[in-house]
Amino acid sequence: VDQTYIMVKPDGVQRGLVGEIISRFEKKGFKLTGLKLFQCTKDLAEEHYKDLKGKSFFPGLIEYITSGPVVCMAWEGVGVVASARKLIGVTNPLEAEPGTIRGDLSIQKGRNVIHGSDSPESGKREVALWFKEGEVV
Ligand code: ATP
Ligand code: MG
Repeated sequence: VDQTYIMVKPDGVQRGLVGEIISRFEKKGFKLTGLKLFQCTKDLAEEHYKDLKGKSFFPGLIEYITSGPVVCMAWEGVGVVASARKLIGVTNPLEAEPGTIRGDLSIQKGRNVIHGSDSPESGKREVALWFKEGEVV
């Protein structure tokens, strides 16, 4: 079965969107296998987004992700990675379709409330990166 790493970013937590976001994944029917509130370090944020190192927005992205607690989630199910990306919507919230999480709840690329793994391989890597053994059921 596929797994994906979903994370409510600090702006989503601060704005009180955690329940709404979890609810959308629950209603869709995927299985929640890991969940925690977590203050992420700079090192972890840089490792998570290592493919984006060198981009002009990288320092700002690391500052954003470490600016407050995030909610880390692991979700499981056939096709969960691609389906979660559809529920989330595209990176730029102004281009994200209404009905998607970013399309409904945000307006800025740099404050787009949620992360979702971009491939089954990333899903595995990111769940292992953010959760300790025993934290995922
Ligand atoms: P995520 O990986 O967080 O789910 P994504 O896969 O839609 O988002 P990526 O290209 O992986 O997009 O970029 C990671 C994050 O970096 C984006 O979600 C966004 O917060 C930020 N980001 C990407 N491009 C820009 C940009 N041009 N300006 C500012 N922030 C950006
Ligand atoms: Mg990405």
